[in-house]
Amino acid sequence: MWSPDSSPKCETNHTAGKDRKRKRWQAANTPFRCVHCRQMVFPTDSMGTIHRNHCPNCLWSLHVDTKPGNRASSCHSSMEPVGLTFKHNGFDKYGRARTGDIMLVHICRSCNSINLNRIASDDRIEGLFDIFRQSQSLSPDIRKGLEEHGVTLLNGCDIKALRTALLGKAHSASALMAVEGSQ
Ligand SMILES: [Zn+2]
Ligand SMILES: [Zn+2]
Repeated sequence: MWSPDSSPKCETNHTAGKDRKRKRWQAANTPFRCVHCRQMVFPTDSMGTIHRNHCPNCLWSLHVDTKPGNRASSCHSSMEPVGLTFKHNGFDKYGRARTGDIMLVHICRSCNSINLNRIASDDRIEGLFDIFRQSQSLSPDIRKGLEEHGVTLLNGCDIKALRTALLGKAHSASALMAVEGSQ
């Protein structure tokens, strides 16, 4: 069972072996092979984010950053996409829910670190909706662990905002059917 503090943190001194591994990731925007689905990922100018951290196909990531794009982590384990969140959680002074960029929430399979990654324009939209759906049945333990880190996953009430963010305001019924299937 996942819990946020059960494993040793892996952000400390790295070994020579890790240095060798790090070379694959020395620049933030060099092509890399996805650790999960093995697809080659080629960062492009049009993807809409400076740091390509996750695979646009399966949306898994690699634990290479301690802050977005800094490549300072020595962990280098795979990070599983567990859900989506808004960049800004909570409520504004008028009591309205804050929104913002949609972020992918990744949890490291090795050290349980949590990273948020802005979605990129070339991410597979069906995959993002799949992750959203799967996150609705995440174990309470994982949800609680995320909330202790200030991360509230999108839930059923956020589906309209999610559709707008991913598909645009003028999304058509056929586009919805194509990416969400018949529910
Ligand atoms: Zn992949
Ligand atoms: Zn890690």
